[in-house]
Amino acid sequence: MPSPLSPSETRALLDRLGHNPIKKLGQNFLIDGNIVRKSLELAKVSAGDSIVEIGPGLGTLTRALLDSGAYVYSIEKDKRLANHISSLIPEYGGRLHLIQGDALDHPLANIPPAVERFKIVANLPYAISTPWMDAVIHGPAPKSMTLMLQKEAAQRYVAVPGTKQFGSISIFLQAAYRTVQAWNVASSCFYPKPDVGSQLLHLESKTNSYAFPEEDRYLIRGLFSQRRKQIGSLLRKSDSPRAMEWLKRLDSLGIEANARSEQIDVDRWIQLSSGHGR
Ligand code: SAM
Repeated sequence: MPSPLSPSETRALLDRLGHNPIKKLGQNFLIDGNIVRKSLELAKVSAGDSIVEIGPGLGTLTRALLDSGAYVYSIEKDKRLANHISSLIPEYGGRLHLIQGDALDHPLANIPPAVERFKIVANLPYAISTPWMDAVIHGPAPKSMTLMLQKEAAQRYVAVPGTKQFGSISIFLQAAYRTVQAWNVASSCFYPKPDVGSQLLHLESKTNSYAFPEEDRYLIRGLFSQRRKQIGSLLRKSDSPRAMEWLKRLDSLGIEANARSEQIDVDRWIQLSSGHGR
């Protein structure tokens, strides 16, 4: 695998493109070969795989994916960087697909629906990670996701009940994916260095994955917005048409009406939503 650009090569390329990294777009580019290699290893990328990449940036991860023989479907918001990435298209003979746009509008970079098995490998722009993740979990399911994330976000995604990080996104994600690895990544692996900690998370789709319907996600988000209050009284006051049904189910699922949302585990939330165990 070719080495990623060193810090001086990254600066030189940015100079050549006349580009200053834009903080609000989370432009912290990978400059560490071990992390690029680790991401591809965790994702078990092999020739012929279809990969969605969010924010290819200067193309470090993109090139490594393409050099492994994968098909890459990518989306880049920054016009100048998208132009740079599009210059790689002829070199990779039809295996690189790029759209210029916002990953919140196209969470899977417009990968054709006919491609049923795909993985996501991305060094995400940290500001969009949670709404993007929410959209991905509730769309066509990737087989795995290998994601560079802000450490606090990664900790929320894999949080266990009874902790302050445990929330609606932990439930939605863990109902569908299991965490295989979480690696702390030093800020020196990026140029420029991010002000926050980073973690590389590898998630694999569960065989018995569950996707919460939109009305149940709305209800769960509402319950967690008052996470210290008792679930029974919140359900009684809720404007959700599902709340009365859930209230009746509490007892048969062994959930105390005075329990707090943050104490209820993912399987119980699935049972509340689906009406049965699994
Ligand atoms: N993949 C490159 C790497 O690893 O060096 C760059 C990763 S950088 C953390 C995030 C990239 O996402 C930047 O190129 C940025 O312009 C792009 N980006 C930011 N917000 C975006 C959005 N809403 N949709 C698509 N791309 C976005």
